[in-house]
Amino acid sequence: MDKSNKRKISLLRAEELKKNISDYVEIKENIPKGMELQYEYDKLKYKILKLFKADENDWNDWKWQLEHRIDRVNTLGRIINLTKKSRDVLNRLTEKYRWSISPYYLSLVDTKDRLDPIRLMGIPSVAEMFFESGKADPMGEESTNPAGAVTRRYPDRLIINVTNQCANYCRHCQRRRNIGQNDFHRSKKAIEESIEYVRSNREIRDVLLTGGDAFMLEDDSLEWIISSLREISHIEIIRLGTRALVTLPQRVTQDLCDMLKKYHPIYVNTHFNHPKEVTKDSKKAAEMLANSGISIGNQMVLLNGVNNNKYVVQCLNHELLKIRVRPYYIFHPKRVKGTGHFMCSVDEGLEIMEHLRGRTSGMAIPTYIINAPEGKGKTPLLPEYLISRGKDHILIRTWEGTVMECKNTKSRDMKAIFKEVDEKFQE
Ligand SMILES: *Cc1c(COP(=O)(O)O)cnc(C)c1O
Ligand code: SF4
Repeated sequence: MDKSNKRKISLLRAEELKKNISDYVEIKENIPKGMELQYEYDKLKYKILKLFKADENDWNDWKWQLEHRIDRVNTLGRIINLTKKSRDVLNRLTEKYRWSISPYYLSLVDTKDRLDPIRLMGIPSVAEMFFESGKADPMGEESTNPAGAVTRRYPDRLIINVTNQCANYCRHCQRRRNIGQNDFHRSKKAIEESIEYVRSNREIRDVLLTGGDAFMLEDDSLEWIISSLREISHIEIIRLGTRALVTLPQRVTQDLCDMLKKYHPIYVNTHFNHPKEVTKDSKKAAEMLANSGISIGNQMVLLNGVNNNKYVVQCLNHELLKIRVRPYYIFHPKRVKGTGHFMCSVDEGLEIMEHLRGRTSGMAIPTYIINAPEGKGKTPLLPEYLISRGKDHILIRTWEGTVMECKNTKSRDMKAIFKEVDEKFQE
């Protein structure tokens, strides 16, 4: 083929590829994004500040944010309009399920839209009343607790649940069982027992501190745990699970970053579910952590009405990469009491995965996970790309759906290869 012909074919192919993304290019304009809503957020922020007779400095102080979490229907009613009916429902729900929302996260709510994703995740709704089925402990966490505050489901890594506290009590939380009516950090004894367990089990190389939200601990408590783990020679990496980047970005202070970076390698996993959550403040928090050498992964939960839409997930993952957060997992939701309205099918999850591959950077494609029953572990779900597997050939399906054959060559012993070449060369 001559050069100009090659160019012609390439141009045709580029046209084809362009068509493949034209739907997203159009739709993404209409997906609400935190970075474009700052003006709206600020309006609500000043309303909340006025109500609490507070100022910008208070707002930027995570302790102020925590102390002023909204958990009363009356206070909420002074910030967003609530009908008498929704007040009644909220009052009944408050007796059943704990709820609490940081002033910061509340400022992201669209007060006029009851189906606003932030509102669905942050504020109790009537829907919680209608779906009462589901288990309180679908993860089987009760049967994977060999010591102290440890959850162990894997050979080489485990979780230490350092607190049951979170900045918000998310409506979709899959761990509602642990979120009691009272906040508590795990006792020093339970943590000491957990660290001891890690110390005496040499195969553990990766410890994940979570809960609840690991960033709810004060810097010095957190440092005590992290530094104790760092003294254990078989611990290679330490990970922290937190939603603070989303619900309380003020928590990420320079002091916290300076402390964490003394104990590298440290990783943070967080939990963004919608592009509206990626704001100027969460960007600042993510960048401070990233500038301290911490890589941040995102664990999204697939939620009906929030992100069970391929374009929303694509947009979220782009917004995340822009603030240096790498999409890590998409979790299929579990049936937990009071969260049934968020349920969606595996087909919906697979459709999202199918859409992402090819249409966006590999960096923007997380692994889709369903948790096996009885705490048997995270299990990846993937669209089928391998159609059949023969001895010398395999049949694949590309991201565009083209079926193609590929060669499949078994590896040969490297020593034998060298020997064969040597012998040939001698002749
Ligand atoms: C999710 C989880 C981990 C971490 O799993 P990765 O796939 O390594 O991120 C470790 N322990 C428990 C109990 C978990 O649930
Ligand atoms: S931050 Fe995580 S653990 Fe805490 S309430 Fe929200 S989803 Fe649940």
